[in-house]
Amino acid sequence: MATLFKDVYILDGSREKAALGHVLVSKGRIVSVLDASLEPPSADKIISGHKRMAVLPGFVNAHTHAAMTLVRGLGEESPLMEWLTKKVWPVEAKLTAEHIYWGTYSAILEMLATGTTCFADMYFEMDRVAEAALQSGIRAALCRGVMADANDKDKINRSLNDNLELAAKWHGREGLITVQIGPHAPYTVPFDDMKKIASAAKEHGLGVHLHYLETEFELNYIKNELKTSPENYLIDTGLMDAPHLVLAHAVYFEPELADKLKLANLTLVHNPCSNLKLGSGVMKLKEWLAKDAAVALGTDGASSNNRLDMWEEMRTAALLHKGVNKDPVCVSALDVLRMATYDGARAFGFAQKGLVREGWMADLVLVDLDKPHYIGANCDNLAAYIVYAGSSADVAGTMVNGKWLYRNGDFPTLDKVEILQRARAAREEITR
Ligand SMILES: [Zn+2]
Repeated sequence: MATLFKDVYILDGSREKAALGHVLVSKGRIVSVLDASLEPPSADKIISGHKRMAVLPGFVNAHTHAAMTLVRGLGEESPLMEWLTKKVWPVEAKLTAEHIYWGTYSAILEMLATGTTCFADMYFEMDRVAEAALQSGIRAALCRGVMADANDKDKINRSLNDNLELAAKWHGREGLITVQIGPHAPYTVPFDDMKKIASAAKEHGLGVHLHYLETEFELNYIKNELKTSPENYLIDTGLMDAPHLVLAHAVYFEPELADKLKLANLTLVHNPCSNLKLGSGVMKLKEWLAKDAAVALGTDGASSNNRLDMWEEMRTAALLHKGVNKDPVCVSALDVLRMATYDGARAFGFAQKGLVREGWMADLVLVDLDKPHYIGANCDNLAAYIVYAGSSADVAGTMVNGKWLYRNGDFPTLDKVEILQRARAAREEITR
């Protein structure tokens, strides 16, 4: 079935400005992107935008822990380590595979309703996360969080094997899922194990996704405990030689180091809201972008954000760095739009996703511009309207692979009532 978006604004992170035109989608792909002056092609289903709707690429949430929707609100406003060790980890220890499945599904509803078409997840019981993603139809980049346990010496090996099995079973499945290896962080994975993980990634052709330099504690740990530097850590462990390396947070990662690293292999994920809420600090985004580093955007888990809303991350990123740098020109609306879409898709091995371009996959967000806060929006300023005036409340539809997964408040292919009921029950069980 072909769907035509007629007389809509078309915007993505590769354009200087939006265009007015028509977008035809068929068999999961964008078949044509035409200027408004041209005759629109015929289609089974026509969505008339009347120049009051916009089509954007779907958002890629490049770092999250989806099932943490179940631990949202626990231990609010505590110091990071206290929050993790006393509030979150003890409750997470009670999570079963079934809980994680429903917690993830609930997160998927939240993400679809806010225009996210792909999420990068690090958690455990990832087979069930993969099932929820595949059944829902959303795209996902999955890794098993691998970390050492002082009371269980073999746990790290088992987790790595789980991660490799996850890849064998799910990587590339139906074009919807990719798998990375997910060492949790340098302070939870011993150096030699990190080396083993890096070499497994290279051997199996998998990317690596880890937390890196989220807090000052981690920077001091690398310097004082591991007696190395952040750049040498990545080089000496072999992480830089992985097919692709995704570093979440990178708050204490200095942009001068870009010259010593192979940037083509590297994506940083900026999580501005989580970093602010946990008091971790502010990544040097302006300087990394000036170095032409790829930077994607993520929400992090729902317990440290507390939203899974990429509009919020775009707006926060664009505002935060202007304020910190006292520079209204840095980190533009188009920069954050590209980070929230194309850069995330590329980081996790999703080709031809993240732009509204002929032949690319139809992962799209339909935005309703027929609202007071869009009066005055035009091709020249639409990116700024979306980022500064818009919000996820403007999402009229979210399409993955040409299929509507969210449309006008409903999830046409999903059972929202059951998902919420099961997620609510899971939350009650783990906090009882
Ligand atoms: Zn995280």
